[in-house]
Amino acid sequence: MKFGGTSVADIDRIRNVARHVKREVDAGNQVAVIVSAMSGKTNELVGWCSQASPLHDAREYDAVVASGEQVTSGLLALTLQHMGVQARSWQGWQIPILTSQAHGSARIEGIDGSEIVKRFTEREEVAVVAGFQGLHKDTGRITTLGRGGSDTSAVAIAAAIGADRCDIYTDVDGVYTTDPRIVPRAKKLDKVSFEEMLEMASLGAKVLQVRSVELAMVQGVRLFVRSSFDDPDNPTEGTLICDEEEIVEQQVVTGIAYSKDEAQITLRRVADKPGVAAGIFVPLAESNINVDMIIQVVSNDAHTTDLTFTVPSAEYARAVKILEDARDVIGYEQLEGATDVVKISAIGIGMRSHAGVASAAFKALAEKGINIRAITTSEIKFSLLIDKDYTELAVRTLHSLYGLDKAA
Ligand code: ASP
Ligand code: MG
Repeated sequence: MKFGGTSVADIDRIRNVARHVKREVDAGNQVAVIVSAMSGKTNELVGWCSQASPLHDAREYDAVVASGEQVTSGLLALTLQHMGVQARSWQGWQIPILTSQAHGSARIEGIDGSEIVKRFTEREEVAVVAGFQGLHKDTGRITTLGRGGSDTSAVAIAAAIGADRCDIYTDVDGVYTTDPRIVPRAKKLDKVSFEEMLEMASLGAKVLQVRSVELAMVQGVRLFVRSSFDDPDNPTEGTLICDEEEIVEQQVVTGIAYSKDEAQITLRRVADKPGVAAGIFVPLAESNINVDMIIQVVSNDAHTTDLTFTVPSAEYARAVKILEDARDVIGYEQLEGATDVVKISAIGIGMRSHAGVASAAFKALAEKGINIRAITTSEIKFSLLIDKDYTELAVRTLHSLYGLDKAA
């Protein structure tokens, strides 16, 4: 069972979490619980690090930001004990959860779950594990897994102890066909395949950390996304994230995602010759800027071409600077940029076997007068870059087009 920051935001909510845990223990289950820091806590800790030293030592940053989970794991263990449930807290280094040395975004390399499992049987003890943190063995230092990393901790622990299921409790009661704040008629999905969830998570649905879904897919951990705000004695089912074989009735499109964290860059009149794309994208990659959509226009004069691509909006200024600095090397006439754009995506494994899925969207958006700036497609999704002002209209249009609106 994993509980996110809003679920453990104060002592009352931690008590509510403990009731969820007690229900599972009373039902005869052996339980490991992974907790996040209280909501807002990690942001506060990150802020303190920047104030103390703008260019901070990443090892000390991890020592500071890992502390939020130390608090909630101890508090939940205390609360469980108070309810008569055997429990103890585990910090990442105590298990240990071994990670790479990439402080601030470490990767889990191995977990020895045997002591936790032993205590399940010998002491009927619930393990309350601090999410988000691990240990780099050679240096003996605390690491963290990147923002939202407790989801990944939970999946990794589930795999390490051979759990039957991994329940991610959060502030929504499942995965929806799209953001219900934009489309009130969005439906809760019963099941979503790993591949689809991976796309949804990377394309802007913020329910799960992308890496946790990757790991669950590789390890075959069945994930349930469900609400911690349900009555602990009468919880609802949530959404199961599982292998696509488990999903019998497959929709062509399962969900519509959107991401406002995109910016567009266009280079006009770039020389049309071998090596130019490398000249543009290698420096961006070397600066760790993740380029997403790329469009190159076929040149009409055989000498120059236009190239358009997107970068995360947080990296926009940096990307523009790099390209301006390399202007003479790349050789382009003009750089244009736009940050008032949004990427809308439709996801569904049914797209593999259906033609005309994307073209239906082009037609529907055209009828609403929405201009498409860029398009990318893959086996199970397509993404469209449009003006930000049309976000709601475009999401609603596609949601209805693919029959995802819930019956009124
Ligand atoms: N507390 C960490 C964060 O806010 C990890 C997590 O909640 O998953 O990013
Ligand atoms: Mg989270």
